[in-house]
Amino acid sequence: MASPLEDIKARLDIVELIQSYIRLNKAGMNWKAPCPFHAEKTPSFVVSPARQIWHCFGCGKGGSHIDFIMEIEGLEFRDALELLARRAGIELKREDPKLRSEKSRALQLLEDAARFFESALHNAKDPQIRISPQLAYIKKRGLADETIKDFRIGYAPDAWDLLCRALRQKKYTDAEIERAGLAIKSEQGSFYDRFRNRIMFPIRDASGRVVGFGGRIFDELVNPKASSAKAIQEGGAKYINTPQTLVYDKSRVLYGFDRAKDEIRKANAVVLVEGYMDCVMSHQAGVKHAVAVSGTALTPDQLRILKRIAGTIVSSFDRDAAGELATKRSLDLAASAGFERKAALLPEGLKDPADAVVRDPALWQRTVREAVPIVQYFLDRALARHNPAAAEGRRTVAAEVLPEIKLLASEVEKAHWIQELSRAIGIGEEPLWRELAVAKTAGGSAVPPRAIPAPGRQEPNRRAQLESLLLGAVILNPAACREHIAAVPRHAIANDRNRQILETVAALMERDIGEHDALLAALPEELRESCRHLAFQAEVMLERIENAAERSNEILVCIAELEREWARERLRLLSQDIRQAERDRDQEKLKILLTEFQHLAEKIR
Ligand SMILES: [Zn+2]
Repeated sequence: MASPLEDIKARLDIVELIQSYIRLNKAGMNWKAPCPFHAEKTPSFVVSPARQIWHCFGCGKGGSHIDFIMEIEGLEFRDALELLARRAGIELKREDPKLRSEKSRALQLLEDAARFFESALHNAKDPQIRISPQLAYIKKRGLADETIKDFRIGYAPDAWDLLCRALRQKKYTDAEIERAGLAIKSEQGSFYDRFRNRIMFPIRDASGRVVGFGGRIFDELVNPKASSAKAIQEGGAKYINTPQTLVYDKSRVLYGFDRAKDEIRKANAVVLVEGYMDCVMSHQAGVKHAVAVSGTALTPDQLRILKRIAGTIVSSFDRDAAGELATKRSLDLAASAGFERKAALLPEGLKDPADAVVRDPALWQRTVREAVPIVQYFLDRALARHNPAAAEGRRTVAAEVLPEIKLLASEVEKAHWIQELSRAIGIGEEPLWRELAVAKTAGGSAVPPRAIPAPGRQEPNRRAQLESLLLGAVILNPAACREHIAAVPRHAIANDRNRQILETVAALMERDIGEHDALLAALPEELRESCRHLAFQAEVMLERIENAAERSNEILVCIAELEREWARERLRLLSQDIRQAERDRDQEKLKILLTEFQHLAEKIR
């Protein structure tokens, strides 16, 4: 019987799978893209549809479906397998609930809670009433049935512990409910629901699993005497969120991302809005590449997730300055992450995108479509507020706009906006360039906004690359490499697994297996995947060399280089030993070491 992983591979094309995360371009037989796992400009991330394998020649990461999902979603093997199984429509054997990891129990608990909230929204207590007042209310606020269903919007009843009781019935413990962020322990030691009388927005991870909730008070608008309205007056929050938990890391999750990611990729742009309601309403209006950041600035992790699939950030701007600070911070960070930034300016009199959609979906579509470059936005705003005909006004306009220009990555763009500014305020470009040099960015600080740390950069070392090329070439065409394989200095292979592969392949070739497919079939299963991967790497590296003699020569060069690399490493170790022997004044040892050193040094000259 095929393993679930083999089933998945047979059903899910790796190119399609990876395409759903990053944009790939066709390059000969393969597909290419800038690597999503390390910062680079020239694409060295290659996907092979024929081999159903991916590999990055920049950072050395690579593998099959599961490796990609684990890497890009940050999932453990079991969770990545479950995600793939879901996408492939394969049923995995359920584990015993008791054996399931704490994490997957938490996810199941959150899923059960989401269902509880959904049904609480839809089921009216009074059988005479066909629709619950909460549902009627959010529909009146403009939410369509389809949207409520897609975003799984629900309702947390106005009671102390209805959810806790429902979850206990499903055999979850109070501690588990608390750890999932849904219950609070009272001073008396009893547990009560964190979310009460709130419209519930499930927060989902990139793969669509519920990892937390945002709960919003609504009914102060319909019923100013309601307890929640009183709570707001007394300083209670309009929104509350699940706290950080085992499965909810708010610095990584973006609300709506699971539903928006494909559209973001297609548009090569992401629309940033403030609240959950804005995000949901934006999708309803057909602007489906929107995500919500809910009041805080984008984190470097969130920017990194977005950067994989989009080059432009469109941020919705309120016309009044309040609430702009978080947006501004997000955009400064986005600039340092290399995004192109645009401002979508809400029409006069509308306070947020949800408002615009309620008024007219086309209004919000147009607002996003007509988003202007961020510098344009700040220039227009400054010109509207200060009089460029007066000296003081000119200075203020320049002072407000120059920091924005300074944040631009491209010199060409900087030049363009200096020219625009110069024209707008009637000051020559020369002095503006001088001002730009001393202009301070990001909230009056001269320190540039925190750069996005390059994700887990791990340079593949040269030896590893040489080994991959050599072994891969042998696996690709065993017959043509028959003579070479004997010449490979076994000690020069640093990687244990590669040495094992070399020995196994050599033994198989002695049994007269000279053809690639036959060799793969004859390999023991635990080595087959690695060998397929090595063959793929060699195939890409040797792509440009069509001539068989040149290919053969390439392999000889590779063997010689491997020997050299080994010798260099050995020399490094020898020189350490030599220094030690000198310190110990061990003449005898020193003499032996120096002889070996000279011998090796000559060899690699
Ligand atoms: Zn890479």
